[in-house]
Amino acid sequence: RALNFSAGPAALPLPVLERAQQEFVNFKGTGMSIMEMSHRGKHYDAVHSEAKQRLKQLMNVPDTHEILFLQGGASMQFSMVPLNFLKEGSTAGYILTGSWSEKALQEAERIGKTFIVASSKESKYRSIPSKSDWKDDSGLSYLHITSNNTIYGTQWHEFPETNAPLVADMSSDILSRPLDISKFALLYAGAQKNLGPSGVTVVIAHKEWTASHSNSLSKFLDYNTHLKTDSLYNTPPTFSIYMLGLVLEWAEEQGGTDGLATLNKEKAELLYDCIENSGGFYRGHAEKGSESHMNVTFNLPDQELEKDFLGKAANEGFIGLNGHRSIGGCRASIYNAVPLEAVEKLADFMKVYRKNHPS
Ligand code: PLP
Repeated sequence: RALNFSAGPAALPLPVLERAQQEFVNFKGTGMSIMEMSHRGKHYDAVHSEAKQRLKQLMNVPDTHEILFLQGGASMQFSMVPLNFLKEGSTAGYILTGSWSEKALQEAERIGKTFIVASSKESKYRSIPSKSDWKDDSGLSYLHITSNNTIYGTQWHEFPETNAPLVADMSSDILSRPLDISKFALLYAGAQKNLGPSGVTVVIAHKEWTASHSNSLSKFLDYNTHLKTDSLYNTPPTFSIYMLGLVLEWAEEQGGTDGLATLNKEKAELLYDCIENSGGFYRGHAEKGSESHMNVTFNLPDQELEKDFLGKAANEGFIGLNGHRSIGGCRASIYNAVPLEAVEKLADFMKVYRKNHPS
């Protein structure tokens, strides 16, 4: 297997791929692939409801909330959230912690009135703004945050107390740690980092709050359409949901979100320790306390060295270590499915590279 540190679509657990391979042509003796079956038939129905049930259990989703399987990626949610919840005469709050929060805000601006409650843009998105730096968040129709900033490598380690209904883009850290879902009015995540292949977007929505906001613009873009139809209003991305179910089964075997969080912390610490103990050779982008356990971003002393580092890493089989094209540098994405051994190999490589480049 490649040592895959890509930011997304990202590595999947090997046992999941092998199981899918086994079942690919002949699902449970039916003589058909799951992707060849009706989404209204009994085989797919079991896949759909099991995936939902597993996610409910793994993420401890209370009965007040409903799980939806939608399409269009997290980017579609950037629009659906304001389309549904930002009504005329009200204001939506956004906390800017990176490019994805900016994109979410831009979509809301097209629809209604917005307000930036806090932003770490001036300090190059190195940190999560502390509550003491927030502007007044009262009276907002919702407050939108990005729980993990895939590009800058920062993460909310504690979620803010706010009177506004809290909406979170969790695309790059969903299922990586235990979470109190009751704090959120709605959260969403494209699957392609921690949940499976791209194609399905998981939404977890507070039922009453969602029901009290209908969207008169479009039936399909109204969350209530999908709430009422168990995400079967139209043909869902059946193969992606099948794969999601397999990933969730694997996540259970890892000890659920508790087990995954422990492992993710261990993986992240290996890399952050390596950065910290490099005598300033590697410089982490994120400030202390805001470091992501999913995307470790860092720079080398200059761009020439970065290029050389990335080239040598690629020769050793490390995939996807280049930083996002918008900010450059290096980034190791260590989502749930990236094995500890792969991270240990990367830490060893970084240490040897450092030793070979005495400053
Ligand atoms: N939000 C975050 C935090 C992301 O990391 C990404 C993609 O990397 C997106 C949104 C966009 O997701 P999608 O491609 O599913 O629209």
